[in-house]
Amino acid sequence: MGFFDDIRALFALVPEARMRGYGPGRFSFNSSQGRCPHCEGAGVVKMEMNFLPTASVGCEACGGKRFNAGTLEIRYQGKSIAEVLQLSVAEAIEFFTHQTRLRRPLEALRDTGLEYLQLGQISPTLSGGEAQRIKLVTHLLGGLKSAAIERENADLILRKAPGRPLPRDLFVLEEPTLGLHIQDVRRLVAVLQRLVDAGHSVIVIEHNLDLIAEADWIVDMGLEGGAGGGQVVAEGTPEQIAADPISHTGRHLRRTLTQQPA
Ligand SMILES: [Zn+2]
Repeated sequence: MGFFDDIRALFALVPEARMRGYGPGRFSFNSSQGRCPHCEGAGVVKMEMNFLPTASVGCEACGGKRFNAGTLEIRYQGKSIAEVLQLSVAEAIEFFTHQTRLRRPLEALRDTGLEYLQLGQISPTLSGGEAQRIKLVTHLLGGLKSAAIERENADLILRKAPGRPLPRDLFVLEEPTLGLHIQDVRRLVAVLQRLVDAGHSVIVIEHNLDLIAEADWIVDMGLEGGAGGGQVVAEGTPEQIAADPISHTGRHLRRTLTQQPA
């Protein structure tokens, strides 16, 4: 069961929902019983006008809530399904504090700097960068889970097949810090560090100096960007790159490294 299936199952367990015979599917705006019939769950209606591009306006029947009146009357801990979908990730962590299965993926989203997202936004309307970070969270949860299981089973595996290497994953990310605030970059770095601590490898293509400064090994490509690039300028630890006289990255990295509290 996915994240939204779990939320729908909670609503279906509300006594009023059971009395009315509403199943979990009722709380999806893809179901004809649950959604607003006027906008068919879209929350907006398309307006076709002669000689003008098609415009979308908010649905008057449901006020953009996407569900019909019967569905919205069911409240879980005081909130309708529409109100729950409007919660931000940070608010939802509070709201679902006793629902571990819901809270854990939300905490992982928060850890990659996505606490401002509304639950209703988690999927098709995401920007490329956000979608990539969500993919990262999914991998991260899977990676950490398998790492924990591996640790538990390591003795057993080694006893059965001595010398057999334990499975490790390789994560390749392209500019995961794009559009992130500085605090969120620090959180992302912490998440990547957890992956490395769990025995995985992370390769990041990145311009962000705060992330670069945390790497174990840097391959600096240059000398310039675009057509002026494509060559390995320098490689080594952040300290070695910072000491390199021709690396542009090194020159900027020197400043970042000296700014950091000891
Ligand atoms: Zn509607």
